[in-house]
Amino acid sequence: MAQLYPFTDPRVAETEAPRSMARGDNVRVTDTEGNTFLDAVSGLWCASLGFNHPRLIRAAEAQMQKLAYYHSFMGRTCEVTDRLAKRLAARLPGDLSHVFFAASGSEAVETAVKIVRYYQNARGKHGKKRIIAREGGYHGSGQMAAALTGMSYCHDGFDVPLDMVVRVGRPHYLRDAHPGENELDFSKRMARELDETIRREGPDTIGAFIGEPAMGSGGVILPPEGYWQGVQEVLARHDILLIADEIITGFGRTGNWFGCETWGIEPDLMTIAKQLTAAYFPMSAVAMTSRVQDVIADAAHGMGTFGHGVTYGGHPVGAAVALETLDIYEEMDLPAHVNALGARIGRALGPIGEMPGVLQTRRAGMLAAAEMETEADAIAVMAAAERRGVFFRRIGPVVAISPPYTVTKDDIDTLMGVLAASVEEAATLATT
Ligand code: PLP
Repeated sequence: MAQLYPFTDPRVAETEAPRSMARGDNVRVTDTEGNTFLDAVSGLWCASLGFNHPRLIRAAEAQMQKLAYYHSFMGRTCEVTDRLAKRLAARLPGDLSHVFFAASGSEAVETAVKIVRYYQNARGKHGKKRIIAREGGYHGSGQMAAALTGMSYCHDGFDVPLDMVVRVGRPHYLRDAHPGENELDFSKRMARELDETIRREGPDTIGAFIGEPAMGSGGVILPPEGYWQGVQEVLARHDILLIADEIITGFGRTGNWFGCETWGIEPDLMTIAKQLTAAYFPMSAVAMTSRVQDVIADAAHGMGTFGHGVTYGGHPVGAAVALETLDIYEEMDLPAHVNALGARIGRALGPIGEMPGVLQTRRAGMLAAAEMETEADAIAVMAAAERRGVFFRRIGPVVAISPPYTVTKDDIDTLMGVLAASVEEAATLATT
């Protein structure tokens, strides 16, 4: 094996070669053996317009013909990248009015953390640097991004800087609520525990809180009623910035343009990637409010430069692809489109929630899941679905569903039918 594969056991890969993909056709991918699968999770929650959209291919080619690369360092920029920045500033919710471009989600998260530190230093708050992050949160693979991630296998062996992180609980009402606690009470307790943690650790040592509006890789955990309101009240009380990590939820996934709109979140910084370019080009960004931008700009002016940037940040081909992606989203009337297809997923999920072995089904827009009683059940469901030609994503006992927005109604019926049949097969296996 010439490749060290990400999130894969290398010794297993030596004997069991990973399934190798060769072609894509809208929501389906075909491997080198000629097997075709309907991908019900858009690759890694990113290929929102399928795997070979002609308009995105044309947009990339046209930009490559015009200007295949230029940077945005030291008095240069690209016309197309500036256009994208303006377009995003107009589209982003609230007062998020400035963007900094990078190439991957991890880079966006690293950048957001550096911006928090720069901001706090500029305000003379030199000790206010640690970041609150949640169990089960996923924020990427950089040193700090991995430390923020609340999954031990992203820390083990790497010596990531966990001392810079203050860990708090995940808002998983189904599994973590106390007996008799309703959703609102659960959210109030989470806010109270957050407040206690901040007081114990010292508000002057904490610069920001990072969280996904709805957790994706942590198991499609949708925030319970009142959760984000409670968190925001506590953060405001202690002068702690909020970073909304919208790398999965951004661009329609939860039924609004941004997850922040779905759950009433007003962040100071937002990270975006994945569906920004529908995954056709690696591109990410950190958006910030003018309040943050002003402090950063003044401090950077004092130092003579903002000393941070990556070679491929704001890549013109990525910018052209992102602009075309935004055009397609607008033409499809993104929130309405996602809510209509999401409702069809929801109608099929209802009866699946009543099947043996299923603890709960949940959904926001086109982000959905079936949580099985055990991890073994979910493994069996995944295997049965793959035999039937559909890829879902398993996270512990959770089977995640997050198809491209270009999925047809018939495809939804197919993939949800496969899910139901696979749950049934898993239940039969469990009882024999
Ligand atoms: N943040 C969230 C919420 C993510 O889901 C991911 C990737 O799945 C990342 C950050 C990291 O992005 P990347 O893999 O592009 O570095």
